[in-house]
Amino acid sequence: MTLLKVDALDCRYGLLQAVRRVSFEVEAGETVALIGANGAGKTTLLRAIAGVHRPNGGRVELDGVDITTLPAHRRVGLGIALVPEGRRLFPSLTVEENLRVAASPRRPGRWNVRSVLDVFPMLQQRRRTPAASLSGGEQQAVAIGRALMSNPRLLLLDEVSLGLAPIVVDAVYRSLAGILSEGATVLLVEQDLTRALRVAGRVICMLEGRVVLEGAAAALDRDHVVSAYFGLRKPA
Ligand code: ATP
Repeated sequence: MTLLKVDALDCRYGLLQAVRRVSFEVEAGETVALIGANGAGKTTLLRAIAGVHRPNGGRVELDGVDITTLPAHRRVGLGIALVPEGRRLFPSLTVEENLRVAASPRRPGRWNVRSVLDVFPMLQQRRRTPAASLSGGEQQAVAIGRALMSNPRLLLLDEVSLGLAPIVVDAVYRSLAGILSEGATVLLVEQDLTRALRVAGRVICMLEGRVVLEGAAAALDRDHVVSAYFGLRKPA
């Protein structure tokens, strides 16, 4: 069943076209990685799906319903949650408070403070610590936990590895693996190609605002992906 459908989406910042007629679908239960070099348009695309960036053309559908013009808060109510680049926590609020502010009374489900702390053991001892005092990895865990608190049907993750030590990224991805194995539907931006190919069932590669390669992670040739990623030669 198709959960998300993006059709011929265009996004601009003034004259700069960041996303160019991008189309793809995400099935319920899939994990799809969005890859591409800096400036390829990945963040803008996620923000347009979340309703934070208004597209200039094209369409976004959730479950066959056109949500292209729906504001971000209404999309959260429908089950779209974005973990933004840079985490954007409330620095003076504790871990638990950061999680509680995101709880959606309209979307019941499996996620609450306790279940979030269960999947992110690194936060167990930190629940009363202000977000500003957390390490980068702990902050990323809170950011993902906060998104889960809205019991999303579609989780959008923007570069969870950014600025984190590899060992911390491993810990965050270990927790994510548990979430993914429960059948969550996830669209994630990941700069690390190896990790993207490992975690995702399908990969979409963007270059200069366009989708230049899309396919099942297991079926893609790594050299082919690297070429598409850097635009070295046109993928066959
Ligand atoms: P990164 O990995 O660096 O975050 P990205 O693939 O996510 O890159 P975007 O951040 O979506 O790419 O940027 C796409 C294009 O839009 C880039 O050329 C970028 O410079 C431009 N851009 C992004 N945000 C803005 C903004 N707020 N104002 C103007 N241009 C922007």
